[in-house]
Amino acid sequence: MVSKIVFGRGSFSQLGEILEPKRLNRNAPFIYFVDDVFKGNAWLTSRIPLAYDDKIIYVSADEEPKTTQIDQLVEQIILDYKERPSGIIGIGGGCIMDVAKAVAIMLNNDGESKDYQGWDLVKNPAVYHVGVPTISGTGAEVSRTTILTGPERKLGINSDFTPFDQVILDPELTKDVPKDQWFYTGMDCYVHCIESLNGTYLNAFSKTYGEKAFELCKEIFLEDNLSEEESQDKLMMASWHGGMSIAYSQVGVAHAMSYGLGYLLGVKHGIGNCIVFDHLEEYYPEGVKLFKQMKEKHDIQLPQGICANLTDKEFDIMINVALSLEPLWENAIGKNWKKKITPEVLKALYQKM
Ligand code: NAD
Ligand code: ZN
Repeated sequence: MVSKIVFGRGSFSQLGEILEPKRLNRNAPFIYFVDDVFKGNAWLTSRIPLAYDDKIIYVSADEEPKTTQIDQLVEQIILDYKERPSGIIGIGGGCIMDVAKAVAIMLNNDGESKDYQGWDLVKNPAVYHVGVPTISGTGAEVSRTTILTGPERKLGINSDFTPFDQVILDPELTKDVPKDQWFYTGMDCYVHCIESLNGTYLNAFSKTYGEKAFELCKEIFLEDNLSEEESQDKLMMASWHGGMSIAYSQVGVAHAMSYGLGYLLGVKHGIGNCIVFDHLEEYYPEGVKLFKQMKEKHDIQLPQGICANLTDKEFDIMINVALSLEPLWENAIGKNWKKKITPEVLKALYQKM
């Protein structure tokens, strides 16, 4: 779990006092990975407390993080500084959270990041790392994984060393998120709830967090009783609870298939989950019904026909990525999932998208 957390509008201004005691020495900098959407945004960047050799590295979230990108960033840091950094701080959405987590791990572990994709393969603790989410929904701020696209698959580095040492939850940072993106990333949280609450791995721990997040999502996306600020505050907490819910269970069908779309077509996580979830009535009837209401209420048009021109070989690539995520299917369907989920079943679903 995340060791330390602050919550509150404006709490981002505390970053300096939070980091100060963590500085190892003058030669060990704090490295900030900041979403490049904030380049030139003084409201945010003027509050980043730079001293000595500290550095801001702007990272684009246009594409999801890749293992090669992580390896390059780590190499650059090792070449540029005499000592290991005092800390890595990620400021942005799920992409940037994942970059910060992965770099912090790889600074203290030999080899390439692709070798650590999977469960519990990391040997050494990561460099101190801090997460500051600027968009809510993924739960990446709380999870024990960092999702990377590698040469063979899109898969997380799941380990006890992955979670942040400190998170700053400042809902005010989400105020300029564009509406469609707000919906897609918010729906990631909603889908986490549905997949967790309807999974065979469910236990009292996951259920408690999942139910709270689900309740918040309904309030935010279906009702009209919240001010904009309340809605931002609540979505940030929904994201946290949704992430906690899957921390002790798993995601399911939508995520498995969305990873396939992401790997082959570069479709991003939030919108990919929406595209898939829209067709999953058979697996999550109630959840999909509410999703369609939310989509309509917020006038969201999902892309259609994204698999229309794919070759059989391309379908096979997506299907293999999806099927390789065994824990997700086992959670969704049960131990005998292979009887029900065949390549033909997945192909028929992908063809609808
Ligand atoms: P993102 O990081 O992809 O960002 C989405 C868009 O929103 C980007 O264009 C970004 O620049 C913009 N943005 C972010 N904050 C903004 C702000 N305050 N104002 C204006 N624009 C802003 O979005 P995401 O949906 O949060 O993250 C998706 C990524 O998270 C994927 O790479 C996915 O694999 C990963 N993910 C990780 C976990 C985990 O547990 N580690 C869980 C779910 C998803
Ligand atoms: Zn997700």
